[in-house]
Amino acid sequence: MTHTRSVYTIARIRDDRSPAPAADWRHDRACTDADSELFYPTEHTTSTDPGKRAAAWAPARAICATCPVKKACLEDALGWEPGGVYYRHGLRGGLDPRERANLVRSRQRKAKREATT
Ligand code: SF4
Repeated sequence: MTHTRSVYTIARIRDDRSPAPAADWRHDRACTDADSELFYPTEHTTSTDPGKRAAAWAPARAICATCPVKKACLEDALGWEPGGVYYRHGLRGGLDPRERANLVRSRQRKAKREATT
C-alpha cells in the first residue's frame, strides 16, 4: 500500500464517520451500491493533462449526475472538509477536491464583497 493510498483510505473512513444531518439524505444517494473506488481514484486526479484528469473522475461523475441528493451531499462535504484542496478527497456532490476548494473560495470572495457593500 502506498502513502497516497493510505491518505485516501483515511479520507474514506472519515467520510463514513461524518455526522449525519437531521434529515438523512444518505438513504437516497445514487452511490449506495457503487464501487467506492470509483469515488477515490488513485491515478491522474492531479494530472496536468485535463483529459486524464477528467477520465479519472468520469465514472463517479456519471453516478453523481443521476443523484437526487447531489446538492445535500455537496453541502455536507463543504460543511466539514477542512481547508484547501490537499485536505479534500474523493468526488462529492459531483465535484472533485479542486472544484470544491474553488467553490469555497468563490463563496468566501462573494461573502466578503457583500459584506463591504
Ligand atoms: S452526489 Fe455523488 S457522492 Fe454524493 S451521494 Fe450522490 S452519488 Fe454519492
